[in-house]
Amino acid sequence: MSQAPGYAEFHRRSIEDRDGFWREQAQLIDWHRPFDQVCDYSQPPFARWFAGGQTNLCHNAVDRHLKDRADQNALIFVSTETDTEKAYSFRELHAEVNRMAAILQGLGVKKGDRVLIYMPMIAEACFAMLACVRIGAIHSVVFGGFASHSLASRIDDAKPVAIVSADAGMRGGKVVPYKHLLDDAINLAVHKPAKVLMVNRGLADLAPVPGRDVDYAAERARFLDAQVPCEWVDSTHPSYILYTSGTTGKPKGVQRDTAGYAVALAASMKHIYMGEPGETYFSTSDIGWVVGHSYIIYGPLINGMATIMYEGLPIRPDAGIWWSLVEKYKVSVMFSAPTAARVLKKQDPAYLSKYDLSSLKALFLAGEPLDEPTATWIAGAINKPIIDNYWQTETGWPIMAICNVVEKAPTKFGSPGKAVYGYDVRLIDESTGEEITEPNKKGVIAVNGPLPPGCLQTIWGDDKRYVSTYWSSIHNKVMYSTFDWGIKDADGYFFILGRTDDVINVAGHRLGTREIEESISSHPNVAEVAVVGVADQLKGQVAVAFAVLKDPALAGTEAEALKLEGAIMKVVDDQLGAVARPARVRFVSVLPKTRSGKLLRRAIQAVCEGRDPGDLTTMEDPAALQQVKELVAR
Ligand code: AMP
Repeated sequence: MSQAPGYAEFHRRSIEDRDGFWREQAQLIDWHRPFDQVCDYSQPPFARWFAGGQTNLCHNAVDRHLKDRADQNALIFVSTETDTEKAYSFRELHAEVNRMAAILQGLGVKKGDRVLIYMPMIAEACFAMLACVRIGAIHSVVFGGFASHSLASRIDDAKPVAIVSADAGMRGGKVVPYKHLLDDAINLAVHKPAKVLMVNRGLADLAPVPGRDVDYAAERARFLDAQVPCEWVDSTHPSYILYTSGTTGKPKGVQRDTAGYAVALAASMKHIYMGEPGETYFSTSDIGWVVGHSYIIYGPLINGMATIMYEGLPIRPDAGIWWSLVEKYKVSVMFSAPTAARVLKKQDPAYLSKYDLSSLKALFLAGEPLDEPTATWIAGAINKPIIDNYWQTETGWPIMAICNVVEKAPTKFGSPGKAVYGYDVRLIDESTGEEITEPNKKGVIAVNGPLPPGCLQTIWGDDKRYVSTYWSSIHNKVMYSTFDWGIKDADGYFFILGRTDDVINVAGHRLGTREIEESISSHPNVAEVAVVGVADQLKGQVAVAFAVLKDPALAGTEAEALKLEGAIMKVVDDQLGAVARPARVRFVSVLPKTRSGKLLRRAIQAVCEGRDPGDLTTMEDPAALQQVKELVAR
């Protein structure tokens, strides 16, 4: 009996016969015009996947399923915050997306225009994303937890023609109003979008701006029977921009293509996530993050699956809520983050065994390191395979995982598995740039170009920054740097050891310490500040700030220091959003720096975590670290 080739062969072929491999995967989606070339890599590191072809993401996610599964669930919207539950079949989703597309066109949105989506987890956000790609417009979803300053910088970078938003989101029973943040952001921004489409959930004041703000319900009623054909776009036409944090204060707009993304997602559903058409996928992320784009909206729908969009907490009304949805909608694949598992771990485990989880094949966790105790606990609690997978906003789909569909392989706790097909992953010695081939030796995780389909094409509007950020940091080599440390064991399993740069990861959300520092620096009494990520039992990491004050007397007593700490936190809340708020702001008289003036963030972090700060011979003032030590010990 002939056996299917194993994973090693599958991966080898994806690199050595790249074009043959991806030509086969490209069959998983519909094409309006076939491509001429699988990968045009004539201008490295810029890859043009499926050049010459034409397709449409919305067609692949919605229209093509009308033939076989029009009445099957496509989008299941569940809000435990507003007690709403509504399922849309592919036919209904198609109708809603057509209406939204007609509304956007009515607002003047054309192919190639940007539309900024600043919305909570509601069905209309999904309609808006799909409507954009339907008409060839480029969406830029901004996470609802971001405040006006963050939003304004994204408005100025993407220059959207229109914004789609809502009056409010809800979290833990509390209304989180969006409209005033949006108005403030538009005031702050230099670019002024002409139109703002507002979904009114009846939760907060809308205060419409005459001539600019448009009511969604009224528009929808006007376009109830609208039919808007899919705009066939080139394979390389940008589908969206998604901003992510980097080492500078300015967020990077990750730009995604159309065809490469569709093929990559379709292939990942088949080889990694084990999802079959007709089944239900439940990803607990948010549309503001990359997981939300790839595995709430596009991946499951392209694969003909129903997808659950959930607004609410994992423990409200009780810790059984997610598992009750698994039972009710026969979820076959679930995707979440280690932080959520750690939150559940604090609840009564009985909630996890109360429901029938027989439909569930596996729980995938990603976004941050999955610690062994959490992995072991959740695996035991739900009695399902737990599959850690490692990727980034930039890649859009996993770089490392266990591809159980290709070949069943054991998981190793603490490891997100092996290099995924399409990624030629290497470990690089930071100082020499040489590849590390010896097992269990630490290096920078890097990828040889071209990156596989679905990964970022460039940074929006800044090709130079794309090359200088991602392709120029490895000594003597043009390779993509993930900016993560890792090791690989003798079996080819990777272990992720943290970032090489100043990016931190709070509850699976990536934040740039520079961004938080810039925000804190805008407080009138802050002269200088250093923000570091410190290990936290629940959130993985939290941000902690150390600030030098212009007038230390204003934090002379403990009560004054606490008051100032609160005021500084509020600055961050107002500018960036509560996600970026540091857990503590501590006051010092001097910051630990090298003699050349570079902040020693890693030494501060080590001290905060009770570790040895390492070699401090280049430090300017050793007493600076002593202050940090004393504050942390308190
Ligand atoms: P983001 O772009 O926000 O998804 O953040 C990507 C970063 O999160 C990666 O560069 C890693 O530092 C971290 N990360 C993502 N997934 C994992 C994982 N499975 N294990 C460890 N770290 C991860």
